[in-house]
Amino acid sequence: MTIRADNIRYSAPVLEKARNLLVAQLIEPDGTYPDIWWTWGSNPDRPYRIQYMRNENPELEFITCTCPYGLFAGAGDTRCYHSAAVLMLLEAEESVKRQKLSEVPQVKRTRKPRGAATS
Ligand SMILES: [Zn+2]
Repeated sequence: MTIRADNIRYSAPVLEKARNLLVAQLIEPDGTYPDIWWTWGSNPDRPYRIQYMRNENPELEFITCTCPYGLFAGAGDTRCYHSAAVLMLLEAEESVKRQKLSEVPQVKRTRKPRGAATS
């Protein structure tokens, strides 16, 4: 993931609102799709969908949100606080993963991987 919530894309007040949203736990992961989250605006019957668009090329990844502020932004231009909150979540998950990986003892590879040239 290359998009970072704390970089220039989001202003400080937007990041603050995003943090409040996370603290209030008003963002829910979708039960089926791992890259989709839901949050609510003024109408409880019409939640907003936030989706992280992954790509083989991380440079081309972006995030979308169906709130009025995010809806008409072009791909990669969504800057609403819902999308900022999801990026914060993703970053937190990634740093936890990295931490866990660093706790795993490194195993020395002694055998050649299958299919490797033997000459
Ligand atoms: Zn939004």
